[in-house]
Amino acid sequence: MTKWGKRTEAVHGGIRRSQYGELSEAMFMTQAFAYPSAEAAEARFIESGPDEFIYARYGNPTNRMFEDRIAAIEGTEDAFACASGMAAVNGALMALTQAGDHVVSSRALFGSCLYILEDVLGRFGVEITLVDGTDNAAWEAAIRPDTKLVFLEAISNPTLEVIDLAHVVKLAHDHGALVVVDNAMPTPVYSYATRLGADLVVYSTTKHVDGQGRMLGGAICGPRDLIRGPIEAYVKHTGGAINPFAAWTHLKALETLDLRVRAQAGATMQVAEALADHPKLLRMSYPQHPSHPQHAVAMQQAPSGGTVLAIEVAGGKEACFRFLNALQIFTISNNFADAKSIATHPATTTHQRLPQDQKDTLGISDGLVRLSIGLEDPDDIISDLKQALDAA
Ligand SMILES: *Cc1c(COP(=O)(O)O)cnc(C)c1O
Repeated sequence: MTKWGKRTEAVHGGIRRSQYGELSEAMFMTQAFAYPSAEAAEARFIESGPDEFIYARYGNPTNRMFEDRIAAIEGTEDAFACASGMAAVNGALMALTQAGDHVVSSRALFGSCLYILEDVLGRFGVEITLVDGTDNAAWEAAIRPDTKLVFLEAISNPTLEVIDLAHVVKLAHDHGALVVVDNAMPTPVYSYATRLGADLVVYSTTKHVDGQGRMLGGAICGPRDLIRGPIEAYVKHTGGAINPFAAWTHLKALETLDLRVRAQAGATMQVAEALADHPKLLRMSYPQHPSHPQHAVAMQQAPSGGTVLAIEVAGGKEACFRFLNALQIFTISNNFADAKSIATHPATTTHQRLPQDQKDTLGISDGLVRLSIGLEDPDDIISDLKQALDAA
């Protein structure tokens, strides 16, 4: 079969039509499947064919369409769809590690990822080493001959630090370790993880794939032997599967993913340019803007960026809250990658419980605001930010 581009895959990838020949993908809201005979049931439990299903926790035609489509977009052989981004992270990490293993991870992680590494894996005897992901020498010092797995967020949340993925992948593979990338920030549209050799790419599809703030979901993308081997076994037996309604919503949302993300990323670059030298800001962070400390490596990896940027408002928490409360188009929320522009104050919300020294290490100051740029008119978004900064 000819290899399609991402946009074609996003519309046609994975399609399975029923006997009715429906044009749009069908939503199969069924927990289990019926067999024409006892012999057929027995045969399916011995071995299920590619279009044969047993129970929705194991697989479902709608879930399968979504898995095939997101795998085609990411460029991997297969994918397993999960109930949330965290079900996907947990599935990938728990399926591939055991007591005595060593795992190296970047320190700037989504809080729940850190919980799985330190509290869950740690409790089961997996040794974790956390490093500054932007420091190539720190990775070199941390990865050992017995390192089983490397985990990282390709671009960190909320400070948008960029990891030199080719360097980390080479180092990990030289030591026989697998690389698992949490790829929420680069988005499936600008993903470079698979191209640069990551073994598994994990998405919170809650973010750009849904893109409209409705559904939790996740996906683990990778080679078939891992996905249909240890990953499927772990996720299907522990209840991490996506539900068919969420899978169907994601499947339809993938059709417009490229258009939405490109429009949002374009607007985000415009915002970055408008705010880069703003007198009320101590800094503005967007990997594709020349002011970013890892701009060169960011551009090597992806010429266009994601839909999130970070700013640091001068004047501490009070000025920052005046700015947030003056916003008219932006919604104050903790989510990102929505059609609606969203402003988040990590220090008092998503990262509130981190001890102060860790906030300092990660750069989560009282003035830091994460801006997720939506689908509104870019001029309106920029005016809103400017008038709110005036009020700060
Ligand atoms: C949101 C997010 C997750 C968790 O995804 P859920 O769908 O909320 O479970 C994991 N990692 C990163 C980087 C995220 O942004």
